[in-house]
Amino acid sequence: MLKERGLLHLSTGDLLRAAVKEGTPLGLEAKRYMDAGDLVPDAVVIGMIQEALAGRTDDFMLDGFPRTTPQAEALDAMLAGMGAPVDAVISFDVPRDELVRRLGGRWICRGCGRSFHEVSNPYDGAPCSATGAECDLYQRDDDRPEAVANRLDVYDSQTAPLIDYYASRGLLRRVDGALPLDEVQAQVVEAIA
Ligand code: AMP
Repeated sequence: MLKERGLLHLSTGDLLRAAVKEGTPLGLEAKRYMDAGDLVPDAVVIGMIQEALAGRTDDFMLDGFPRTTPQAEALDAMLAGMGAPVDAVISFDVPRDELVRRLGGRWICRGCGRSFHEVSNPYDGAPCSATGAECDLYQRDDDRPEAVANRLDVYDSQTAPLIDYYASRGLLRRVDGALPLDEVQAQVVEAIA
């Protein structure tokens, strides 16, 4: 959907998982935080985003960044330097027990990155758009119950304050993430229209 709209999707989680897979020094440092469901230090993630955005002139969507107030402030400074302010920030509202249920049953394709849920969105056997073969599904280490509980606590203490940060600037769009997939998708499209 976002590719059709010509919007580049930049996910800090995906960039970090790629660094872990490649075994780079950054990946090795990040892995222990990620496995525990903790946030990777701000300086590491900010540096990664600075690198990914350098020289970019097209529109993009950040996924999973910023997650702390210092990251939001660093993003403001980066975008001011690029003359490209934030257009909108989407907050997905989902009750905690529903998040635990979703993450526990999530399966992701190593090739195309699509994610499925064993109950609400099972893999339909369609070929992977990256390899053309059947999707190669795996479960993320940090979708284990202990890591999920910590990720949700970390969200409450470090990321939730960003709701006010962006609401006070008139940029926050709230999406009811508990709705079925197609309705969430429609709300996201409307939020960034
Ligand atoms: P995600 O795929 O967005 O759920 O991210 C997976 C993990 O990567 C998180 O639980 C963190 O450990 C790390 N991570 C991703 N984005 C950030 C960020 N903006 N700041 C700090 N850690 C991050």
